Amino acid sequence: MCGMVALLMALGLLPTLPVPGQSETLVDCARASVVLRTGASSIEAKAAQMLRDEVNKRGGRWRIATKAPAAGNVVYLGVGAGVRSATRSLKPLAEGYRLSIQQKSGRTVVTATGNDARGCMFAAGHIIRLLRWGDGRLRLPALWVETAPAKPMRGHQLGWRPTANSYDRWGLKEYEQYIRDLIVWGTNAIELIPFDSAYDREKNLRFTCALADLIASYGLEVWLWYPADDTVPEGVRGDGLVPGQLACPSQSDGRRFLLDRRRELFSRIRHLDGVLIPGGDPSGCQCEKCTPWVKTFLALAEEIAGIVHRYHPKAGVWISNQGFRDTDNDTFYAYLRTRQPDWLAGLVHAPWAEETVASMRGRTPSRYPIRQYPDICHCVRCQYPVPDWDQAFAATLGREPVIYRPSDHAHIARLFQPLTVGAVTYSDGVTDDLNKVIWSAILWDPGRSDKAVVEEYTRCFFGERAAQDAVRGIYLLEANWRRPVLGSPTIPKAFALWQRLEKAYPE
Ligand SMILES: [Zn+2]
Repeated sequence: MCGMVALLMALGLLPTLPVPGQSETLVDCARASVVLRTGASSIEAKAAQMLRDEVNKRGGRWRIATKAPAAGNVVYLGVGAGVRSATRSLKPLAEGYRLSIQQKSGRTVVTATGNDARGCMFAAGHIIRLLRWGDGRLRLPALWVETAPAKPMRGHQLGWRPTANSYDRWGLKEYEQYIRDLIVWGTNAIELIPFDSAYDREKNLRFTCALADLIASYGLEVWLWYPADDTVPEGVRGDGLVPGQLACPSQSDGRRFLLDRRRELFSRIRHLDGVLIPGGDPSGCQCEKCTPWVKTFLALAEEIAGIVHRYHPKAGVWISNQGFRDTDNDTFYAYLRTRQPDWLAGLVHAPWAEETVASMRGRTPSRYPIRQYPDICHCVRCQYPVPDWDQAFAATLGREPVIYRPSDHAHIARLFQPLTVGAVTYSDGVTDDLNKVIWSAILWDPGRSDKAVVEEYTRCFFGERAAQDAVRGIYLLEANWRRPVLGSPTIPKAFALWQRLEKAYPE
């Protein structure tokens, strides 16, 4: 126990903390009033709604109130919701919160105080992941926590496109539930893919704008992944515009077409915090005029940034060097060093970058932060393949199966943190669900063990009774991929355990 906490406890300023290894004190919370302060912001109100709904889905009967009830359990939620902080002299850290859960005069009193509106959202999320539910009761552990994220960027890409294995079948309702499920773990940014050539453009535009409104209503950052690879539709012709081919930014009509399309989106989308323009995967037109692409790309990105900033002055424009070879990277970094462009917010280390994060950090002027764009959804032919994966798995499960690699991804999420401001991951569906949770949680607190996160994950989504078995089951699945299939000691165990769980919890 740290000296400060011990001192405060001795002075009676803190309730008793559970001692690690000893059984925790659980307090009843089946019914409770969530009290919002007068003048609460829309984001604080949204945090209260999320909390009430998610607790009630797990068997609670919570309601929202504007005044503290005379009797019964109570949850105070808000920015500076009136709690006396033992450490109030410390500068409140962005997105952080204090959470206290205790029994007082026969009532459960929860005080969730955000350092800012987003902090309230994460405090509500913390309560959700602490809930003990599913055994006919609803309880919370007595505790006192003060926390703030280690890394400012903790996001995931949820692109509405046919390439994804889930998102393209979703409407706003499904997106909202999934965003809530990510907020619980501290996710603060969602990256969208604004267009896909498989969809009607206007329909795509409307849905992207509606998703941005939804994300912003939860106080999260709205990001776009928007490469310069627009395919020219039928009926559009001009210099650099051939239907079915990529628009060419090196010819006047092609360039105008690309910029007009972006102007249309940026003028209509009401919330925008960041735009990633990838240098490759995909890049754009590969004609002779556009070669070398790195030069065309940098000039085009600058022009696109001008349009972004006209409509969203505070939005950051970020670029990646995916697929750039030696001389391309020499050009790329020389441009950054000599021009030090103001339009650029930072660099993105992404799959197919021909260098490590450390190399990128070393070559990039220090004024530009580095964000990761890690591939968390693939197992082979990708950025972080499963090492020595048995060919039987590779051939049958393929590149994008349901992935359980909690300790692998916790390691990767920790590894590059000293060099980056965090990550917005590349995901193509719900199959990497647990990896998203691990990345968000480890970017919040790199000192957390992946096991503790997995325990919260199973409790949050499967309930108290199945939680410990599910933890074992998940680690057995990770272990299965680390040895040859033939003679594996874990595969029969994992199979038997998950069959037993399937029988016990058919829902
Ligand atoms: Zn071209």
